[in-house]
Amino acid sequence: MTSEFHYVTGETLRQWDNDHVWHPFAPMSAFRQEAPPIIVSGQGFDLLDVDGRRYLDGISSLWCNVHGHAVSEIDRAVRDQLSEIAHTTLLGLCSEPSIKLARALVKRAPAGLNRVFYSDSGATSVEVALKMAYQYHRQKSGGPDQRDIFLTVGNAYHGDTLGTVSVGGIDLFHRSYRHLLFQTVSVPSPVALRVPQGHSRESWLQFCFDETARLIRDYSDRAAGFVIEPIVQGAAGILIHPPGFLKHVRQLTREYQIPLIADEVAVGFGRTGKLFACEHESAEPDFLCLAKGISGGYLPLAATLTTDEIYNAFLGDPAECRTFFHGHTYTGNPLGCAAGLASLELFERNNLLENIAACGDVLEAELATLNDHDHVAEIRRKGMMVGIELVRDRETLTPFDASLRIGHQVTLAARRRGVIIRPLGDVVVLMPAPAMPTDLVSTLCSVVRESILEVTSRQ
Ligand SMILES: *Cc1c(COP(=O)(O)O)cnc(C)c1O
Repeated sequence: MTSEFHYVTGETLRQWDNDHVWHPFAPMSAFRQEAPPIIVSGQGFDLLDVDGRRYLDGISSLWCNVHGHAVSEIDRAVRDQLSEIAHTTLLGLCSEPSIKLARALVKRAPAGLNRVFYSDSGATSVEVALKMAYQYHRQKSGGPDQRDIFLTVGNAYHGDTLGTVSVGGIDLFHRSYRHLLFQTVSVPSPVALRVPQGHSRESWLQFCFDETARLIRDYSDRAAGFVIEPIVQGAAGILIHPPGFLKHVRQLTREYQIPLIADEVAVGFGRTGKLFACEHESAEPDFLCLAKGISGGYLPLAATLTTDEIYNAFLGDPAECRTFFHGHTYTGNPLGCAAGLASLELFERNNLLENIAACGDVLEAELATLNDHDHVAEIRRKGMMVGIELVRDRETLTPFDASLRIGHQVTLAARRRGVIIRPLGDVVVLMPAPAMPTDLVSTLCSVVRESILEVTSRQ
């Protein structure tokens, strides 16, 4: 049986991939024709494919890699843990790496977040927060209530499970499932590239702030929680909120006693220039959802941090059934936690926040030459997160015909030049690992610039 897998050529792997593997978020007929690289190894910030080609990883392996690939310190931590035990459950048992990582996370997270609930993906970390918040109101001391809706931000993305799709707002991803979803109320996303008729950019942003206040007030006795991607809405196209919006939401949700759920799955672990994005506005959420970078991008791991106040509502005699009835088989996996601990240590040892600031300057300078380009609507950047929005007409902001798949064409052009990126529609995304050296960030920028020029000049 095993012999079939001994000396497998790249060609055979390609055939088997086409025969058996269904890729996420992929139009499979087009995907198969394009024959994406089959990655076999990683070295630093490069990925190597089965044919020996080398690519710069321009999106941190989908926004999660932090220190590069095959990092000796993290490799060693995982190997050391592997020689002890690969997996043991947190259902009914405890494990050393999960205890240590919980303590390390609590120490670094915004104040008040003392309790750590593990799971294994970004979607589950948000799902856990939603269920905890919902149950909390039914069990809280001094006046339980039956709150039944979540407040969300327009164009939000929180994952692909049905709970997280319910609180999401990206029409293309979510519309097919709308009959399966629970009720939410969304405040408008405070971004002003395109504003409704009759508004200036300023008046539109003011409207978004006011509308947020109005909806929080109007739904204050029904809202089980307010879910937000702090500072940057990633999947919506790297949309950056204006200063003060997060603080505004935090003040209002505090005033009306609505738990604030901060989804830092994308923005956590240095992406925006601080360890956690909430720090930009000194916001202390009631829930902090972490995944992607938590294990340095090594292994599937996630955590939902919350306060003692929330946690205490779940205490009591077991017979009262105040328990949080939720758990995943691989919750708090020891290998993932060991990688997470090693990753946090490297953050400090390598002064990663300083590197992020230096890389930010490079991104800013290198991409500035695209500012006046006829097909660039806007370049948005916060820390190591960049979105370059391409349009047919810069003046009217008319998009390219979707069937052209312009963002995807740029990805293919970059791949021919040895760089891996992945767009969000016609937004070209750069998401270098927080530890990427400035000279590689520079290379990434020039390849992306050339690729955009090549593709748009054909239009
Ligand atoms: C990626 C992402 C998620 C989902 O994480 P998965 O690990 O893919 O489930 C949730 N929220 C945000 C903000 C994300 O960027």
